[in-house]
Amino acid sequence: MPSSIRRTKIIFTLGPATESEAMLEKMLRAGADIVRLNMAHAKHEWTRNIIRRVRAVSQRVGRDVAIMMDIKGPEIRTGDVAAPIELQPGEIFDFTVRPGTAGENVEEIRSVGVNYQDLVNDISVGDIVLVDSGLLRFEVIEKRERHIRCKVLTPGQLTSRRHLNLPGVKVNLPSFTDKDRADARVGLEEGIDFIALSFVREGADIEKLREFLRAHDSRVQIIAKIEDQSAIENLDDIVRACDALMVARGDLGIECPYEELPIIQRRAVNTCHALGRPVIIATHMLESMISQPMPTRAEITDVSNAVYERADCVMLSGETTVGRYPTECMQILDKISRRIETDQLESHEPPRPMILTSDKMKVLRSAVVMANELPGSAILTFTRRGFIAQGLAALRPNQASILAFTPHDNTYRQLRLLRAVEPWLMPFNSDPDLTIESAIKMLKDAGRVEPGDKLVVATDLLAQDRLFDSVQLRTVT
Ligand code: PEP
Repeated sequence: MPSSIRRTKIIFTLGPATESEAMLEKMLRAGADIVRLNMAHAKHEWTRNIIRRVRAVSQRVGRDVAIMMDIKGPEIRTGDVAAPIELQPGEIFDFTVRPGTAGENVEEIRSVGVNYQDLVNDISVGDIVLVDSGLLRFEVIEKRERHIRCKVLTPGQLTSRRHLNLPGVKVNLPSFTDKDRADARVGLEEGIDFIALSFVREGADIEKLREFLRAHDSRVQIIAKIEDQSAIENLDDIVRACDALMVARGDLGIECPYEELPIIQRRAVNTCHALGRPVIIATHMLESMISQPMPTRAEITDVSNAVYERADCVMLSGETTVGRYPTECMQILDKISRRIETDQLESHEPPRPMILTSDKMKVLRSAVVMANELPGSAILTFTRRGFIAQGLAALRPNQASILAFTPHDNTYRQLRLLRAVEPWLMPFNSDPDLTIESAIKMLKDAGRVEPGDKLVVATDLLAQDRLFDSVQLRTVT
């Protein structure tokens, strides 16, 4: 069977380094599967223009990539400072939550505002406050009505509007904010495929976004970003509620002790495998390539680890928003993924078991078992909403690609998220047998299969006017 696809999918974040038509074209040609828009830094006009541009370039290149809008969620930030504050080790410093606190500050302790009104209630003396991706570290030594008083543990420069992390603190902020709602509306109007919800703390957070999508009659899929300790406590609940999970290691690495991070990643991947949800490994995969043309040995091993773990996707952030080598990052991810996937196949490493909750999943499992027994075969399937393809991908066939046909272009793009799934767009016939025939013809015409190739077909079968789940073996003629 010609052409071996990369089973691990690649998401890249769009930014100044990749937003031009020319760069987008290069990224798509280099094999990008999903484009991520980080709404923490995006204006609506830019968002609309860029979505249209991605669609236009996709059409020109002939690679219809999916678009993921990553909404900011509940973010705590410091306010403006007139000039950068040079914090000294051991200095006492205040975070104020209500205006007017400065007058109360008779001891002339330096301070900055915070946009989180309940900070004083939710935090405890002894807790740690981290600012600017954890670069500045404070310990809470006292709470007052309108501010918390802290000691500087790790000094540095504090500038305006820095991101604040409160490890282990149960933050009492809405999961889906007004800004998220406004951003999501723009995304839905422009036809995005995925929404990634930041700082998901429990399954109920996802339900709020789902209600919003239902109200807008949208089929956009929800990606839950796990970024703090609450998410880890509620991992099973979150995985069940979402359509896919993102292990957002940037914030996770700040919110949790760093030595826990590999354990959390492994647990998240295993939970997704067990419950049949796709999983994305994100952040710092090739961080050094923001300024260097080659990754570090440690980064190569980190990417390999994600592929050995059989993650569905790996993701680039700063590497492709502001980095100097975005296309090289794509090529390197592609090369490492293919090499590790081959090694995994040769070493016959079995995938972890999945909980099969339905008869349908048991039927799909027999398709995967059959494909595993037939070296060189592929799985052919037909899916309107993507569920069958998701089930097959979750069962992690050893070598077979999953050739997933759908009549819907949004499903077609959403299929790009799934490990080993190759999406194909084609109208369906009311007779499943004719649909199979058309698909095989399309695959033959595209040179994707040739006579003698074996296809394990997992689809509905029409018999006596009824549809049955079926697994068939067909040899291409
Ligand atoms: C992360 O924290 O790893 C992440 C992907 O989220 P963001 O880039 O939105 O901080």
